Amino acid sequence: MQVLDRIEGFRKELDAARAAGKSVGLVPTMGFLHEGHASLIERSAGECDVTAVTVFVNPLQFGAHEDLAAYPRDLERDVAIAEAAGAALVFAPPVQEMYPGDVLTAVHVSGVSEGMEGASRPGHFDGVATVVAKLFAIAGACRAYFGEKDFQQLGVVRRMATDLSFPVDIVGCPIVREADGLAMSSRNVYLSADERRAATVLYRALQKGAGDPRHGSEVMAATVAAEPLVHLDYAEVIDTDHEYRLLIAARVGTTRLIDNLGVAK
Ligand code: AMP
Repeated sequence: MQVLDRIEGFRKELDAARAAGKSVGLVPTMGFLHEGHASLIERSAGECDVTAVTVFVNPLQFGAHEDLAAYPRDLERDVAIAEAAGAALVFAPPVQEMYPGDVLTAVHVSGVSEGMEGASRPGHFDGVATVVAKLFAIAGACRAYFGEKDFQQLGVVRRMATDLSFPVDIVGCPIVREADGLAMSSRNVYLSADERRAATVLYRALQKGAGDPRHGSEVMAATVAAEPLVHLDYAEVIDTDHEYRLLIAARVGTTRLIDNLGVAK
């Protein structure tokens, strides 16, 4: 298990792996790993010869009033979790390494990045697309694993990889939940005991909405309205050929949580 913090060293390792005929799996994260992240790493380790986990709290994707400074970090623990899940490499660059000067180039994916998270967090998806493009440019040809937990992000990353011809296959992975249904998130540590209990309403709202997806927005909103500690940001349903995708975002105290659920047609 290697922990690297320089772009050149990381690139060389992955180039050497490919030169030796090995396939590469990439799992981009912001660290403070949990079982959701571990499921991505395990999937990659099962499908690829060499799995690299990146740990980088990307300042570009945080708004001015968001939790960049407070975002939980514990690299030692992350390295242990990544190794146990089957990773061969952890790339954890300092901000200076990724952004040594002013960032004058940004990647903007229109369409899929509009509405929902894009509307609530202006600039967020430009930050995500820009850092993921950098990681793809550094990592080279690979399979890259992303969670459906960030459903809109998965769409943005897929579109970005296609439009910019990155030699990267994007693999979407299912959401891992706590026993009571709360989607695992690094941000769950912010919740007080009361907030943690109240936060289960997101999944309950998704499940209720899934029972009547054509009125899913209203059903989800009504469910959340019954929980005084939780303030709804949005509850939406995307209607595609093969499924309804219910998506929800809410604030619990100062913590913003998102979740989603697919209902097959
Ligand atoms: P983050 O560290 O929050 O940026 O997440 C890194 C990756 O892990 C993203 O692709 C997320 O969608 C994914 N992820 C986060 N939480 C979960 C979860 N509960 N289940 C599955 N994937 C997740």
